[in-house]
Amino acid sequence: MMQKSIIWVSNYSNTMKYLHFLLVIVIYGSTSISLPGQMLYNNDNVEVHILDENLFLLKETFRFTANILAISGEDGLLIMDTGFGEVSDDLKDAVNFLGKDVKVIINSHLHGDHKGGNKSFGEGIKKIAHAKCKEDFQTEENYFIGIIEKYCFTFSGIEIVCIPFAGGHSQCDIIVHVPDMKLVYLGDLYLSESFPLVDVGVGSKAQIVVENLKEIVHILPDDTRIISGHGKETSTGELKSYINMLEETIEIVRSAISKGASVQEMKDSDILKEYGQWGDFFDFITESSWIEQIYYSDE
Ligand SMILES: [Zn+2]
Repeated sequence: MMQKSIIWVSNYSNTMKYLHFLLVIVIYGSTSISLPGQMLYNNDNVEVHILDENLFLLKETFRFTANILAISGEDGLLIMDTGFGEVSDDLKDAVNFLGKDVKVIINSHLHGDHKGGNKSFGEGIKKIAHAKCKEDFQTEENYFIGIIEKYCFTFSGIEIVCIPFAGGHSQCDIIVHVPDMKLVYLGDLYLSESFPLVDVGVGSKAQIVVENLKEIVHILPDDTRIISGHGKETSTGELKSYINMLEETIEIVRSAISKGASVQEMKDSDILKEYGQWGDFFDFITESSWIEQIYYSDE
């Protein structure tokens, strides 16, 4: 087992201010300096980046990039989402690098790219998800907490606030707000570099994504660091701009529908061309698919 410690250096001099949060990593007796965001470890499918003193991003690069968060403390590790099951061994190796046992898993929702690795961490771990996901955790029921309203608990002295939502991305989304760390994890309710993915087939709706995100913005201080299920880290201000983009694009599509346009006509006329950048991040969430999602949300 690798001997390592991560030392947080907060008493830095003025001349070193540009480094801001300076970290010293000691591995096998050798010392190296890392900055927030820097990659500390990687294997074939997972990278470990340090974001803050006790906060780590485990970036899964299998199929498409997914964000898994780990909070490390005296109670062990709290993990937000567990990625694809196909690469759970790589996730486990990345978690092992952090040197503590996983004690809590929070699943933002039940899609396979967010809960596939749960089982690799074994039994006896407290698992938290939306109550509507309960059937997915039957074999581990003793440890499952299904929430239908705001649920707060303390982990390593840090307040963790889980808030359920339904009908935006999926039918069982929850977000994780950590006020002490000025952090929120939004799962796939917010794809920070892409149009949304609305699970219209199970009754989710584009407009509910907007309503959910407006509710979330309302509770977040302006200096909150926002991590989404996929895509770059953003801020409260960027989330507000994203909501504006959603409202504008929904209005454009609804306006065209009211004038009798079909889905195909809207695609052919490229009515969301001005917003094209939001359709480039995933190859399966394009301008055309966002038009379809809005159209079928209103049916
Ligand atoms: Zn996802």
